[in-house]
This record gives sequence, C-alpha cells and structure tokens, in this order.
Amino acid sequence: MSELFAKKLLEDVVRMTSEAKTSHVGGCLSCLDIISVLFTEVINIDKKNPNSKNRDRFILSKGHTAAIIYSALANKGFFSRKWLSTFIQDGTKLPGHIDHKVPGVEFSTGSLGHGLSVGLGMALSMRYNNIKSNVYVLVSDGEMNTGSTWEAIMFAAHHKVDNLICIVDKNKIQSFGETKDIINLDPLYEKWETYGWNTYDIDGHNHSEIKKAFIDSKKYSKKPSVIICNTIKGKGIKDFEGRLISHYRPPSEDQLNDILKGI
Ligand SMILES: [Mg+2]
Repeated sequence: MSELFAKKLLEDVVRMTSEAKTSHVGGCLSCLDIISVLFTEVINIDKKNPNSKNRDRFILSKGHTAAIIYSALANKGFFSRKWLSTFIQDGTKLPGHIDHKVPGVEFSTGSLGHGLSVGLGMALSMRYNNIKSNVYVLVSDGEMNTGSTWEAIMFAAHHKVDNLICIVDKNKIQSFGETKDIINLDPLYEKWETYGWNTYDIDGHNHSEIKKAFIDSKKYSKKPSVIICNTIKGKGIKDFEGRLISHYRPPSEDQLNDILKGI
C-alpha cells in the first residue's frame, strides 16, 4: 500500500514544483518514503472527522517541503486533488510553506526549529487529558542546528513524553551546503540516545525498515522516540540526487516527463 502511495506522491510533488517553478523538491523527495509509510500504515487521521480529539497529530517542522504533505492529504481525501495544480499560484489555498488553514494540517511552520517544541506541547497536553494518541514531528537535519530543538529534546526526555515520536530526515544537506561542513551533527544516534530518547537509525527509503521502526517505537514507554532516517536529497530525480541544487532548482519539463514515464 505504501509503495503505491509513494508513486502518487512522487508524481504530484515533481509536477507541483515543476509547474510552479519553485524550490524544495529535494527535501520533499528525501522524506517521500517516510511520509508514504506514515500516512498509509501508521498515523490515525480521518478525513470525515479531521478534528477528532483522539486523532494522531503530525507536524511538518521542515515547513518548506509543504508540497509533499499537501499531496499526502489530498490523496487521503482531506481536500480535492484539483487544489494541487494551484500550488503557490495567486489565490491558492496551498502556499509554499505549510499552512494550518489547509484541511488536515495541524500547524503552520517554515521558520525552522519550532516543530518539535510545538509537538511536545501537544503530546503533554494529550497526556494530561488522557488522550491515548501519538504526536509525530518530522524535522530536517539542518534545523537540528537550532537551540530550540535541543531544548525540546531535553524537556521531552526529562518529562518522559512517550507519546512523542520525532523523525529526522537526515539527508545530509541544508540550504548552504553539507551539514557536516556547517555544524556537524554526528554522531547523531549517540547524541539522541544520551539525551534519553528511544533511538532508531534506519534507511529512510526502505519501507519495511520505516514501518518496523514506527511499530517498535510504540512498544516502549517512559521515553520519547526518535527515528533517524538516512535519506538522499532529491531521490528519484537522477541529476538532483544528493546535490544541493535540489534545494533550489525546480524540476525541468524533461525531468517531470521522465518521472511520469516511470524512468
Ligand atoms: Mg537536510
């Protein structure tokens, strides 16, 4: 199921960014398999009851990759797929950074480093209100440079917020270059573990590994969980894979056609 969903996401985000001639396709493609598994096999959300108090919450902290979440929500029936062709156009309901006015979106982001703290607040509130659901937060590796993210990491571990699951899209590139050259994060697994989180380190493009990590993360109590996903920025567009240009350059018409033909 998640593989088929991934194909729809790929076609949508490449088409949306190509036609709008806009950036951030690279960061959409690095988290595409994570989002595909999460939205088909893990998260409990319902288009018929989008504000159910018992729903799981998802926050896209890397808000500049809004296109992939808009595609996921449209394919889950939260709004019409016709909206996707208006992405970033004048009068659109789908702006370039994710917007909570869009059905199914919990929180607007774009200024990096806030999503984990917000998700932590939601998770604590749910615990106090005896709501047995989970909060999933997707962060980029670049935004792990922010102090607010590390405050949330410490606070969540101290308060044993075990309904909070952070996913790190470790694509090794941020807007000005490679993370290892800007502020090196490694050894990232050891850092999260030392801070008191239940920690996984997986191939972020392998659906069975992603699914297993989500299942396992629910087995442990008294600790928040983090799934570090090793990914490739721009995955699926050959000339963009692992390259900084995928952060900025929209896919060309030829690249879009290749994706549509399944090349
Ligand atoms: Mg990155």
